[in-house]
Amino acid sequence: MTDSEHPRIVVLGAGFGGLEFCKRFDEQTARITLVDRTNHHLFQPLLYQVATAGLSAVDIAQPIRSILSDRPNITVLLDEVEGFDLAGKKVMLTKNTLSYDYLVLALGGCTSYFGHPEWEAYAPGLKTLDDAMRIRSRILRAFEQAESETSPAAQERLMTIVVVGGGPTGVELAGAFAELARHVLKADFRRIDPSQAQVILLEAAPRILARVPPTLSASAQRQLEKLGAQVRTGVKVQNITEGRVDLDNGETIHAANIIWAAGVSASPVTKKLGVELNRAGQIKVRADLSLPGHPEVFAIGDMALVLEKDGSPVPGVSPAAMQMGTHVARIIENEIAFPGGVERPAFKYWDKGTMATIGRSAAVAKVGRFEFSGVAAWLAWLVIHLIFLVGFRNKIAVLFQWFYSYVTYKRGARIIASPEAPAPPGK
Ligand SMILES: Cc1cc2nc3c(=O)[nH]c(=O)nc-3n(C[C@H](O)[C@H](O)[C@H](O)COP(=O)(O)OP(=O)(O)OC[C@H]3O[C@@H](n4cnc5c(N)ncnc54)[C@H](O)[C@@H]3O)c2cc1C
Repeated sequence: MTDSEHPRIVVLGAGFGGLEFCKRFDEQTARITLVDRTNHHLFQPLLYQVATAGLSAVDIAQPIRSILSDRPNITVLLDEVEGFDLAGKKVMLTKNTLSYDYLVLALGGCTSYFGHPEWEAYAPGLKTLDDAMRIRSRILRAFEQAESETSPAAQERLMTIVVVGGGPTGVELAGAFAELARHVLKADFRRIDPSQAQVILLEAAPRILARVPPTLSASAQRQLEKLGAQVRTGVKVQNITEGRVDLDNGETIHAANIIWAAGVSASPVTKKLGVELNRAGQIKVRADLSLPGHPEVFAIGDMALVLEKDGSPVPGVSPAAMQMGTHVARIIENEIAFPGGVERPAFKYWDKGTMATIGRSAAVAKVGRFEFSGVAAWLAWLVIHLIFLVGFRNKIAVLFQWFYSYVTYKRGARIIASPEAPAPPGK
């Protein structure tokens, strides 16, 4: 088969799922085009550390071209997906239209405000590098403003951070903000006492970290409170406006910074596919991860709704997206090698465990039947995140930053780059 006769595979999204597909696929047997609207692969599990001044943006991102530079059959395009013509086997991008024999959809998700998109302007979510840098800038700027304020009430408002959503991201953010205020900023200000800052984590469910057993949730809450964060469970947010959160129990919290870590939905482009979606916009895929009626199109990662044997959905985590990328790579490779003669296996998720870090020497983890918390869980979290972080330079840089912060209680990434307060997202 000549190169031009090789099947064309278009992969949309170079996140965990799309990139894993490209790495795992034997690229000699097909021409692959990988499209992403950013030029980098982002390691989202460490985004909260950029938002809380622990790491720099470049430490957790890697140029897609550079990751795939030794793969001559993979073309990388910086472009945005706009629409689909599934019948004509075409994808419309902002600058190109691509034809395919196989299409792999791996566009991930976005922050969901549960029907209140207007809250985004006052409570930014954390999904991209821009989000993380915007949050960091707002938090640091609030402490700077508090130092210039004379009114105690204004100082209190400026030094209050509300995190909405007690999942892993909310827990990680709350713990890191509490540490930032109590240990890192404490010595740097003269008129205010940053250790008096309030970090409030709000969760509507009766406990935080709903995916881990109740004993670990309780441990996480204790570890957060030890760091100085307040954890309020069983409270629902009713409204968010500039600097103000109204709760369903009638209480109002005034806070200069409100961070939204409560909801995720699939990429909005799934609505353009004309296939069945769930309420979060995820595509209801078949057992082999293909779209009903379109065996040549697959959806993987956060944008796919995949059900396990017991009917529960496969969680939106990076190992699931990577496993789906590998699964689809094997299916397409087999079909190219043995046209028309292979049965497609169903996808099976291998749950390797759940963990969340809370702060210095504080974390919770559940791996198989084993549950652990504190230093052991924290060390396991550090090692696993270093292993999966893409790029040797990034691994070294992150390891160095963590060591430096651990020893000195300082955080390097505390520069406010923009002179003006950054615009809220969506503006
Ligand atoms: C703050 C945060 C913390 C997390 N922490 C953890 C954790 O600790 N452990 C864990 O396992 N998981 C974690 N996750 C979840 C994990 O990151 C996701 O499950 C995983 O990224 C899903 O992979 P994906 O390939 O489906 O999508 P993504 O990795 O999100 O990749 C989607 C890609 O598509 C691109 N894209 C999107 N729309 C378009 C478009 N219209 N045109 C072109 N390109 C587009 C994006 O730029 C991106 O590169 C976290 C997520 C977040 C946001």
